[in-house]
Amino acid sequence: MDRAKLIISVHFGELWLKGKNRGDFVARLEENIRAAVPKGSFKEINTLRDRIIIVPNTRYENRIKDALGYVFGISWYGTAYIVDNDIGRILSFLEGLSKSDKLNGRTVRIETHRSNKRSPLESRYLVGEILKIKDRLGFLMDSHSNDVIMINPTENGTFIYIEKLRGRGGLPVGSSGKGVVLLSGGIDSPVAAYYAMKRGITPVYVHIHAFRENDTSKSAKITSIVHILDRYSNGSAVYMFPSYIFESSIKREHSRHEMLLFKRFMFDIADMVADREGATAVITGESIAQVASQTLENLHSSSSGARHIILRPLSGFDKAEIIDIARGIGTYETSIIEYRDVCSFHAVNPSTRSIRSVVDRMYNETSIREAAIRTMDKGIRMDSHAPASKRTPKILKLSTQ
Ligand code: ATP
Ligand code: MG
Repeated sequence: MDRAKLIISVHFGELWLKGKNRGDFVARLEENIRAAVPKGSFKEINTLRDRIIIVPNTRYENRIKDALGYVFGISWYGTAYIVDNDIGRILSFLEGLSKSDKLNGRTVRIETHRSNKRSPLESRYLVGEILKIKDRLGFLMDSHSNDVIMINPTENGTFIYIEKLRGRGGLPVGSSGKGVVLLSGGIDSPVAAYYAMKRGITPVYVHIHAFRENDTSKSAKITSIVHILDRYSNGSAVYMFPSYIFESSIKREHSRHEMLLFKRFMFDIADMVADREGATAVITGESIAQVASQTLENLHSSSSGARHIILRPLSGFDKAEIIDIARGIGTYETSIIEYRDVCSFHAVNPSTRSIRSVVDRMYNETSIREAAIRTMDKGIRMDSHAPASKRTPKILKLSTQ
């Protein structure tokens, strides 16, 4: 078998659409790939016109591919070999490779794609030549097989792909700026964070807890969820705040609206964190009418006054669908661990059709805004890292009080 260079080739589909910004998107994707793959796993990573090429170190090929499965912005990827643009070379390499572990015994569909239209290695010609040597090949050919080999002549040589693995899609994290994700520790908000990241948003997590101190061991469930989500973003910032100042401002007569007032409080905190972090959006795990506090009226009156754009990626999802996705992305098992939530908010008869002006009045009467401003001083900010990282998180007190 001719020696050819083994590489992993990454393709980026939707990024093609981005016109002038395309260069930035691709540079961001390359950066995210470098951060996602294990340290020391590659010899080089290069961006070509329409793909990113990774030259793996020996024994790292599969670990790199596993890592790429978590990177947003990739439409497909796979192991490939680069040979000269020469039909003799292509055929002899394919014959040798077909008898190796990588291809022997497989039943494959041969796809051809000529990136360089001036190349004489036109698709029908290539397939015809391969068919001529089919009795010498270690694999079978079947045009209905889902197992694909792709022969792709380009100006940089002919790429022989031995697979096409589906990427996670979306846009590279960071390409859409930052968003504050309100993370509750329930099932929904981690899924919302996932969808925000999928569209290129770098998450800054904000959690409001029921403890007096910012005790990270008591909120370990939240940091565990963030660690799982960090697989998709290579780290994030996490803010934690106590809820007691809010709780002490609420009176019995507000109980039917307590959850809505809590949300107003959360959005005030989220706005302040967004200012601090230069974030554009605030993301929640709300879904229309999933519970009393999420009727359209309540979504409206609980977020009125918020200064940043509020994104609710799960608006149109059923709970059962959200649970399936939470399982798929790896957060479900941690989300269902018992955890002491903020207040109980078990109003016997929660308002389902709140009137915005009424909630506005209560918000002012209870001085929620002041409670949020005072709570800002009680928070901490942590740097979180993907689980592979050994670095210890940096914890920063937002004030010395
Ligand atoms: P989840 O499954 O995400 O907890 P939920 O169905 O329990 O959502 P709510 O309790 O109404 O719904 O919360 C709606 C959203 O408000 C959450 O998805 C989350 O974005 C945010 N949220 C709720 N509680 C907190 C909290 N303690 N800290 C930060 N954000 C929160
Ligand atoms: Mg919840």
